[in-house]
Amino acid sequence: MRFDVISIFPEMFDVITQYGVTGRAFTKNLAQIKTWNPRTYTTDPRHTVDDRAYGGGPGMVMMVAPLEGAIQAVEADLAPQKKGPVVLMSPQGRRFDQAMAQELSQLAQITLVCGRYEAVDQRFIERQVDFELSIGDFVVSGGEFPALVVMDSLIRLLPNVLGDADSALNDSFSAGLLDCPHYTRPENYENFLVPGVLLGGHHGRIEDWRRNEALIATQKSRPDLILEARKKGLLSSKDEKVLQQYADTLNSKS
Ligand code: SAH
Repeated sequence: MRFDVISIFPEMFDVITQYGVTGRAFTKNLAQIKTWNPRTYTTDPRHTVDDRAYGGGPGMVMMVAPLEGAIQAVEADLAPQKKGPVVLMSPQGRRFDQAMAQELSQLAQITLVCGRYEAVDQRFIERQVDFELSIGDFVVSGGEFPALVVMDSLIRLLPNVLGDADSALNDSFSAGLLDCPHYTRPENYENFLVPGVLLGGHHGRIEDWRRNEALIATQKSRPDLILEARKKGLLSSKDEKVLQQYADTLNSKS
């Protein structure tokens, strides 16, 4: 998958190409990135990309022309391949989640636009942006970290990126639940023991335990996800029994 990223701080994207799972994906050419600096597409000697807001008020606004110049450069570079969606990172966008990561990871190419300052001129959004994506209901100073977050989550879903193909399937949210707890050596850490079932080598029982623990973890921290999973028919009668038992133990404690 190819990522074209429009940003006035292109060096910030070095981190995703250099470390861990995403770093290996770029080394193995399973993912590609090109950065485009809007300052390149300015005509004044100071390479200005922002200006004061019409109507007044604090903060600068990113101008249309340098951003649009970068989009045209992406198009020219991709030709004859057609470009995929142009996505503006924005707190006003659709809230990004794992289902969207799965959907977007099927694309051959995506262009991510990183805002800075107070805002991006609305006419750029109307003319060039297919949709806006938010990484959550909070504001950070620029679209670079949000774009890195989105890229990382897409890259780990690409074929052959994760060593163990199953590990993305069991990740939190993939099946509508949070992940179960995990343990590694030693078996006894200062009298904190690994749950016995994980040591027995009985695959069926281990799978049951993991499912039950995932259900309970989800009920504890994200009961909204349990309601959602129930609505989607993702919970079996066995799952419902586990949740009922968990609710009963809570009730008996209170
Ligand atoms: N005034 C804007 C925030 C500007 S923050 C507002 O209140 O909506 C500057 C840039 O950071 C934005 O243009 C956007 O690209 C990025 N950004 C900030 N928070 C974000 C979030 N939660 N998700 C995605 N991008 C975000």
